[in-house]
This record gives sequence, structure tokens and C-alpha cells, in this order.
Amino acid sequence: MSFINFSHVTREYKSGVNVIKALDNVSLSIDSGHFTVILGPSGSGKSTLLNLLGGMDYVSSGEIQVGKRQVSSLNEKEMTIYRREDIGFVFQFYNLIPNLTAFENVDISSKLSKSPIQANDALQAVGLSSRANNLPAQMSGGELQRVSIARALCKNPKLLLCDEPTAALDSQNGKMILIILQSMAKKYGKSVVLVTHNAAIAPTADRLIRLKDGKVQEIVDNTNPLSME
Ligand code: ADP
Ligand code: ADP
Repeated sequence: MSFINFSHVTREYKSGVNVIKALDNVSLSIDSGHFTVILGPSGSGKSTLLNLLGGMDYVSSGEIQVGKRQVSSLNEKEMTIYRREDIGFVFQFYNLIPNLTAFENVDISSKLSKSPIQANDALQAVGLSSRANNLPAQMSGGELQRVSIARALCKNPKLLLCDEPTAALDSQNGKMILIILQSMAKKYGKSVVLVTHNAAIAPTADRLIRLKDGKVQEIVDNTNPLSME
């Protein structure tokens, strides 16, 4: 078994008399220490997949297992614990608190964890030790995203979920973020799952999963992660 397993997962939405299958019988597996990219056009089911994996939505049918947790069977209270303990989130627009410093933004998440990484160590892991006392308004987009990765790392979760983390960045900063996310997988053993519509990100993945119309279209392993340097 891999760290993450989706088995025949379907998520339906009712729209009047119609039923939309945002995910349609999806089976896939994702390993620890791997950087996985879920690629698909708008409407292909990426957000639905990320929401299910992140404990923010329920399957209509099928099973999702993450580590020892049977995520698809958790009740609301257990889902909250799962989100808090097992998942670090990285968003397109960083979601940092504007009146807290970089250090404080990162340190907040250490309080959610049973086995946190020190905030200073997390900032060092993303190369931002020297910016610890800066406020978000004093930092560039690339730096803000690095702070948000440090915040996710600080919790020391098994799984990092990244929703279009490079979409608001220029390509240089985007590359740096991808290198850092790869290091979260390789150096820290995290399972990193990134969803995007941007095909340019695909070559950085250990495993590329293409979604279309709610279905897995293709799974490609071991594209060359070092080729981006
Ligand atoms: P490993 O953990 O060693 O990568 P997996 O059990 O995850 O092995 O996958 C074994 C093989 O099956 C891999 O080549 C992978 O790409 C492929 N695979 C995994 N899930 C799917 C799927 N849903 N559809 C098609 N191929 C898959
Ligand atoms: P993506 O993130 O790839 O753009 P989504 O997962 O957001 O795709 O959506 C997949 C499909 O499910 C789309 O057809 C979308 O319109 C539909 N969908 C998503 N969320 C809802 C919802 N809350 N109610 C109805 N339909 C939805």
C-alpha cells in the first residue's frame, strides 16, 4: 500500500435534475517522500480531489486512505483533527496574517501540532532566516510563499497540499518554490501533492496525475525532477 490510496472515489453534485461527477471513479496512489503533481484543465476535478484529500469534503462513494486513517469514514470531529494534525496547506495567495511577522506567522502553526518543527528551523529550511522579523507587506511574492511553506512545515504534517502555489509568481520565483517543495519531499519525507492547470510544472513531479472530466487520464512516473535546474 502507498501512503495515500484513492479507491473508486466518486464525488457527485446535484444541479437541478442533473448529476455532475466532479470525480468519477478515481483510483490512484501517492507515496511518502514523493512530489506529486495533479494536472488538469479548469473543471477537471482538481479542487474536489484536493478538498477530499484535505478533509474538507466527503466522498459520494469509494474510499480514501491516508497513512493509517480511513479518511472517507471520518466524522466531522475526526476530520477536524485530521486537518489539524496531518495536513499542511499552501495556497495560491499565501493566506498570511498581515500584522504578524514572518516568524509569528510560522510559529502559529506549531501550536496545532504534537510534534512541531521549531519556527526558526522551518524558516531556515526555506532560506528565510534573515527575514524572520519582517511583516508580509515588506516581502516579495516569492518570499511570502516561502513563509507559507515554512508555516506548513512547522506543523510537521505528513502531507503538504498545495493549491496552485506558483500561479501568482513569475517563473523564476515559481521555480524556486518548486525546488523548495521538492526538498520538502526529499529532505523531510513529506508527501507533497500540488494541483495546477499549468503544464510547465509537470516535469518537476515524481508522479504526474492528469485529470480530465473527473477521471484519471494518465499517470506518469519518474519524470526527471532534476531537469529544471
Ligand atoms: P509504487 O508505490 O512503488 O510507486 P504503486 O503501487 O503506487 O507503486 O504503483 C505501482 C504502479 O502502478 C506505478 O507504475 C503507478 O504509476 C501505477 N499506478 C498507480 N495507481 C494507478 C492508477 N490509478 N492507474 C494506473 N496506474 C496506476
Ligand atoms: P477544478 O478544480 O479542476 O477546476 P473542480 O473540482 O472545482 O475542478 O470542479 C469539477 C466539476 O465539479 C466542475 O464541473 C464543477 O463545476 C463541479 N463542481 C465543483 N464544485 C461544485 C459544487 N459545489 N456544486 C456543483 N458543482 C460543483
